Amino acid sequence: MTASPETVSPGTIPSQAPQVTRRTPLPEIEPEPTGPLAQFLVGTFVAVPLLGLLAAIPLAAIWGLISWPDAVIGLVFYVVSGMGISMGFHRYFTHSSFKANRGLKIALAIAGSLAIEGPVLTWVADHRRHHKYSDKEGDPHSPWRFGNDWKALTKGLGYAHIGWLFNPNRTSQAKFCPDLLADRDVRRISKLFPLWVAVSLLLPALIGGLWTLSLVGALTAFVWASLVRICLLHHVTWSINSVCHTFGNEDFEVRDKSRNVAWLAIPSFGESWHNLHHSDPTCARHGALKGQIDISARVISWAERLGWAYDVRWPDGSRLSGKLTGLRGKQLGSMTDRQLVRPDARKPAPQAATSGDRNAA
Ligand SMILES: [Zn+2]
Ligand SMILES: [Zn+2]
Repeated sequence: MTASPETVSPGTIPSQAPQVTRRTPLPEIEPEPTGPLAQFLVGTFVAVPLLGLLAAIPLAAIWGLISWPDAVIGLVFYVVSGMGISMGFHRYFTHSSFKANRGLKIALAIAGSLAIEGPVLTWVADHRRHHKYSDKEGDPHSPWRFGNDWKALTKGLGYAHIGWLFNPNRTSQAKFCPDLLADRDVRRISKLFPLWVAVSLLLPALIGGLWTLSLVGALTAFVWASLVRICLLHHVTWSINSVCHTFGNEDFEVRDKSRNVAWLAIPSFGESWHNLHHSDPTCARHGALKGQIDISARVISWAERLGWAYDVRWPDGSRLSGKLTGLRGKQLGSMTDRQLVRPDARKPAPQAATSGDRNAA
């Protein structure tokens, strides 16, 4: 996935010219923009779950409020797909906050795909570009894109939340995630995205139908556990791009507008501690301060105990203390310097070279 070497001094006779070569920098945006079909599909996957949420209200009057099977199926799929985004697409694939064995890597790639937020390669490329240019020109989804006054910011919030999805410029995967392109498992799972979309939409309905042995049970499960669940997760994820770059606390020094937003911490599995994340992007725990609930970090620590995850980048107290803002007596949480507390933690042998060492953007 590298550019072809280009001979310097064009026009000179090769045999007489010094054979100095340089690599042409890869473009950050693909030369071909997205076509109308891709734009239509994005629109469909933004609108249909939202319509499902709106439809659930009158349907609740007919079928009654959400049933136990629908609530259980919806919650399980929300947690699986949401953790796939938070722990998988974001902390593992984008930022290499920890290393994972092959089984966990595949499970995280599939789980994140079930959120229907795009294939893993597209998601990671966009997010690495976001970190490279955070809240500056080149950021694919900054709410500050149009200016600082309230009118520009209102427009920017809409753009950061949903509008950016319709921008025809596609982030170059060769430029931003060559490590993942070199991983055959990741490439295959990314290519199979339409299959994961079908599974995410239809499996809850199938389970609901079998659980209740009725067609109505399948239909209500489709509305609640497929459409409503996907809609909620979409908007929680997109709130990290919009809300968490506009409102909230700057607990740690950053060069952008990323903020910590407490009320989104549980539904986003810890992703809304976005200020710490931009301050220290490879850190596995985003809710690094005492009392900040970070479900993803907890699950990473369980995976570490099981030996599925290793080389976890837990918060480094000395580094983070220097970045704390204000004098409000903030204290770092219990997982700080964990690698020093548990030097004998189980650590399996590193994986084969195919996984590659993934560098944070
Ligand atoms: Zn990130
Ligand atoms: Zn951000």
